[in-house]
Amino acid sequence: MSRPQPAVETRQVGRVRVHAIQAGGQQLDGGAMFGVVPKTLWSRRISADERNRIPLGMRCLLIEHEDGLVLLDTGSGNKETDKFHDIYGIDNAGAEGRTALEDGIRALGHRVEDVQWVINTHLHFDHAGGNTWRSPSGEVQPTFPNARYVVQRGELAYAEHPNERTTASYFPPNWAPVAAAGRLDLIEGEREILPGITLRPTPGHTPHHQSVILRSGGETLCFVGDLVPTVHHLPLPWIMGYDVEPLVTLESKRALLADALREDWLLCFEHDAHTGFGRVAYDGKAYHLAG
Ligand SMILES: [Zn+2]
Repeated sequence: MSRPQPAVETRQVGRVRVHAIQAGGQQLDGGAMFGVVPKTLWSRRISADERNRIPLGMRCLLIEHEDGLVLLDTGSGNKETDKFHDIYGIDNAGAEGRTALEDGIRALGHRVEDVQWVINTHLHFDHAGGNTWRSPSGEVQPTFPNARYVVQRGELAYAEHPNERTTASYFPPNWAPVAAAGRLDLIEGEREILPGITLRPTPGHTPHHQSVILRSGGETLCFVGDLVPTVHHLPLPWIMGYDVEPLVTLESKRALLADALREDWLLCFEHDAHTGFGRVAYDGKAYHLAG
């Protein structure tokens, strides 16, 4: 097990301060993470362990928006078993049975009760698992009791009707208690949900995956989610084997990275074990991390 450091990285985007909180470490099969890219290529950039797994992070972004705290994705939560954590190499425990994400929020001087909006890029367990938590008495309830939770309507429908290939990623306890509490807001398509915060559909990983764009004072940050999970996924064809529509991912990446390059966006990479933030460069053949 490994937990990427630092636990928190802070950036200023115009007038808004943002914190990337490392919600834990994760290790997944390197082949699955790079799809059709041969191991001879990806293993030059990132090395696999004896189980062919590569180290990953599970970054969430806490935005100190003037209207209140906004949290992007929630890590994998405290509800799964030790066996489950071993399979996915998850190391995310926090103090007193809670999670590293909640520790990070507290270390920044905030409480889970202070979070006003939770936005999920999609509902896979490593992005929405921390939406809810299991109390010592076994009850599953929203982790952020005062928050509105926001996800694309199509993503919820897709999660609630899984097939044999997608069912291993979608667990109803990650969203059903939020919906039951009347706290789930379903969005359709592109939408500015708060001043300067826009949800942008970036389908492919799942059919209704979304990225989150923050604009302030002429600067732009994009939380790309699983569209570009690590810096190693910046080259257009380096697409995860997990994606259900990889050719759709390709077009979502092509469009978003062109915007990011042209407007010098700061990107936040959710799953990169080492690099939380970066800008993109293009050398005439491929995108890569700038500077
Ligand atoms: Zn995912």
